[in-house]
Amino acid sequence: MSNRVHPRPTDNAFLGDAMGGSHEPTYSGALSFMRRRYARALDGVDVAVWGIPFDTATSNRPGCRFGPQAIRRASAIFDGDPQYPFGIDPFATLKVVDYGDCAFDYGRPAEAPATIAALANAIVDTRTWLLSLGGDHFVTYPLLQAHAAKYGPLALIQFDAHQDTWSDDGARIDHGTFIGRAVREGLIDPARSIQVGIRTIAPETCGIDIVHAGDIDMLGASGVLERVKQRVGTGPAYCTFDIDCLDPAFAPGTGTPVAGGLSSREALAILRGFNAIGIDMVGADVVEVAPPYDHADITAIAGATVAMFYLGLLAERRRR
Ligand code: MN
Ligand code: MN
Repeated sequence: MSNRVHPRPTDNAFLGDAMGGSHEPTYSGALSFMRRRYARALDGVDVAVWGIPFDTATSNRPGCRFGPQAIRRASAIFDGDPQYPFGIDPFATLKVVDYGDCAFDYGRPAEAPATIAALANAIVDTRTWLLSLGGDHFVTYPLLQAHAAKYGPLALIQFDAHQDTWSDDGARIDHGTFIGRAVREGLIDPARSIQVGIRTIAPETCGIDIVHAGDIDMLGASGVLERVKQRVGTGPAYCTFDIDCLDPAFAPGTGTPVAGGLSSREALAILRGFNAIGIDMVGADVVEVAPPYDHADITAIAGATVAMFYLGLLAERRRR
């Protein structure tokens, strides 16, 4: 019997190994991030991909609690081939598992931040590289707590239409204020941090450098990368990608869309250059993908591609 007539069972999400590709139909099977095996054991694991389906901190349209599911589904097309533009199969180098989703009680939203932080701490503490899928942007706050506890004050690279530095009494669960709070609490070093794609105004910059969306036409990807390099240096950096950094044409499915943003190509070109400028990314996330407002999976595909790029960058660095 040939394999063509009777393909071997796949369902890599529960049968597969954490390394190596899977080659199952994109449209079927148990969906995990890039067809990685679902696992909670992190022994020898390089990367854990974790969903955080939390969206009650959003100031505008909710819905990104469905983000992790949509990103996983869109990522199924990146299963077992060398990934463009890296030209390598990240799973030849990295042992990657899908860690499933963070669980919390929707009826006790005030407990969610500490729950996310505690579980993220447990993952990061094992030196497993954590790739988180939001959720609204507030989830980045407990993720920064966990990474700063391990690596010290972080350089932040934030792709976003918004600064997320509105005032905060130190207790808000709000996707528009957590960056200022993270600066005040010493989780982020603002002198080493930069925001890319901003096109709204918050009263405080908190000392973070800003590349406005409108600057990118003049700077180009290489000019933006030079700014990121000058700012971030080679210390531990965390990258957070709010999908609303992209123009609504490229990411309609998000809670707070703002016209005049980056194209997917512009943002990916910047991200692609991170290894060339020596960024030491110790963790990363993709947030604010809200499938209820999406069309034809446009936003989920963009989010899945950003997440795949994080793995491509890490695999490339580990091979050096
Ligand atoms: Mn944001
Ligand atoms: Mn935003």
